[in-house]
Amino acid sequence: MHFLRQRRAMRKRLCQICGGKPADAESMRWLLGRREYEENPWPAAVVTSHPPVCPPCGDRAVRACPHFRRGHVALRATKTSLAGVRGVLHVLGPAGPVSTEAVSVGYDDPRIRWVRAA
Ligand SMILES: [Zn+2]
Repeated sequence: MHFLRQRRAMRKRLCQICGGKPADAESMRWLLGRREYEENPWPAAVVTSHPPVCPPCGDRAVRACPHFRRGHVALRATKTSLAGVRGVLHVLGPAGPVSTEAVSVGYDDPRIRWVRAA
């Protein structure tokens, strides 16, 4: 997913597939692969870089995506907030910034200035 479209979808709670927003915003759900969900399952706060999906797109994604067919969780959230960014962390090398690894960092993390969103 293009990073600007991802950011817009997260900020406005738009469907990551069709870009729409249903009249009933509470019907939006987040689809997580089984392994992603099992890293920190409910009742812990769920942190994901995946924007929500509307019910029709979510149903289609679950049927079409091999990743979801191996196991998934659909979540509805009563409260959401933007927590940070995911991207490639850079460090300062002798000739300038050098990419290191993919990371997720919170908005309060000072490394955020060195992350190129992806
Ligand atoms: Zn949709």
